Amino acid sequence: MHECIFCKIIAGTSPAHIILRTPDVIVIKDINPKAPIHYLVIPTKHIADLRDLSSQDATMAGNLLLTCTQVSNELLQGTPFRLVVNNGAAAGQVVFHAHIHLLAGTQMNNFF
Ligand code: AMP
Ligand code: ZN
Repeated sequence: MHECIFCKIIAGTSPAHIILRTPDVIVIKDINPKAPIHYLVIPTKHIADLRDLSSQDATMAGNLLLTCTQVSNELLQGTPFRLVVNNGAAAGQVVFHAHIHLLAGTQMNNFF
């Protein structure tokens, strides 16, 4: 089996707090939250990062963003939120299965 923690969570062989799941996307709580609300919006298809997206992934990529909207509207009452995607180690990525960080629940300042 693929040695990827997010693939294992998607396969159900590693535990996670799952917020919602569709055929294309799974949303879990980040195990080490950086904000009061810190979810990870993860494609069920393994791709390393957004640099590996192709036009064939257009529907999935759209569904990732629409899932963020769904989480905001249905679970977070439309509270302001921030999305972060790290692509590559130098950008801070440590899990090399693409994912969107959805952060909310606190006042955030500008980056850096
Ligand atoms: P990144 O630096 O963008 O690769 O972020 C990876 C994120 O995955 C970090 O915020 C970790 O806390 C989170 N993470 C790693 N392992 C798990 C896990 N088993 N369950 C939930 N979140 C995880
Ligand atoms: Zn994976």
